[in-house]
Amino acid sequence: EMKDLPTMTPKFLKIVDQVCEQCHKDFAPDEVEEQVREHILQDLETFIRRHIEGAHLKLFGSSKNGFGFKQSDLDICMVLEGQDTAMGLDCIGIILSLARALGKHSGLKNIIPIITAKVPIVKFCHVKTGLEGDISLYNRLGLHNTELLASYASIDPRVRQLCYTMKVFTKVCDIGDASRGSLSSYAYTLMVLFYLQQREPPVIPVLQEIYDGQTKPEVLVEGWNVYFFKDLKDLPRRWPSYGQNRESVGELWLGLLRFYTEQFDFKERVICVRQKDTLSPFQKQWTSKYITIEDPFDLHHNLGGGLSRRMINFIMKAFINGRRVFGTPAKAFPPEYPDKMEYF
Ligand code: ATP
Ligand code: MG
Repeated sequence: EMKDLPTMTPKFLKIVDQVCEQCHKDFAPDEVEEQVREHILQDLETFIRRHIEGAHLKLFGSSKNGFGFKQSDLDICMVLEGQDTAMGLDCIGIILSLARALGKHSGLKNIIPIITAKVPIVKFCHVKTGLEGDISLYNRLGLHNTELLASYASIDPRVRQLCYTMKVFTKVCDIGDASRGSLSSYAYTLMVLFYLQQREPPVIPVLQEIYDGQTKPEVLVEGWNVYFFKDLKDLPRRWPSYGQNRESVGELWLGLLRFYTEQFDFKERVICVRQKDTLSPFQKQWTSKYITIEDPFDLHHNLGGGLSRRMINFIMKAFINGRRVFGTPAKAFPPEYPDKMEYF
């Protein structure tokens, strides 16, 4: 039994606040790094258009969602002029010719087309910056969920601080590599957003549930409704809880660890950021899975669907350990505290 919260001292809480703030400050790219990404994108687009007519590139993922790391990969989506969807396109053929074209670019190395995955992509490495990237085709939902995440990030500074803390935490605990069977950064970000929506009073609203009139507007992309409230400067008027949560970022972080280790009932509930009402795995027919995370737009997609039992245990243990480490005031701190991330 962990009875650590009563012993939480204001002094220790301040340090947890500082650690969370520092995660954001230390790992967020600065403006120059953001320009470098745009520059690489421009250069690639110009180059590719010489080989594939009408090609357009767009950045998505953490280069655009407000939760990027200095060394985050470049997630790029390619579309063709005059072509709205991937329907009828020979995607594998295009990916292969894209890989062939990129092979002639002197600034790139390690170009690998991956055509066996659910979504075919070309991977590459940008030599000068060492940034890795991948290009997919017509990932239009990816562009919309990136914009949704960016909107949440801009509502309150604590959102970004917590999502960075979560990302650092998952990296340090080695539970954040989707390619090795863990959850993706995107999934962990959804976990943070869900928690902030459920907090009492909430820190962020459910943007997909704010609209004029009786029924939710329908904006269909690939068969899914991607509507969400975008007029954020009007949010104080449209959302009654605006500005009501005054907790510090450290309190929220400790609350998050507590939420996912003690309070949230994984068996009975889906992590779902598109509605305030509870959603059960039973309703989704996802009962064979312990961690269920619904994509905000592609409602058939459970981001926890690929987790093995072993991996789930590993993730849950990391959270329980995190709660112990963060929730227990240390008697003495190393002198350089909290400027380094060794504290995790
Ligand atoms: P990182 O900084 O770790 O790269 P990221 O937010 O870019 O973080 P990625 O895993 O690179 O996360 O994913 C990039 C984008 O791809 C996400 O923003 C999301 O739009 C989409 N995405 C990632 N994983 C999934 C998934 N399992 N299902 C659906 N879309 C996903
Ligand atoms: Mg990424």
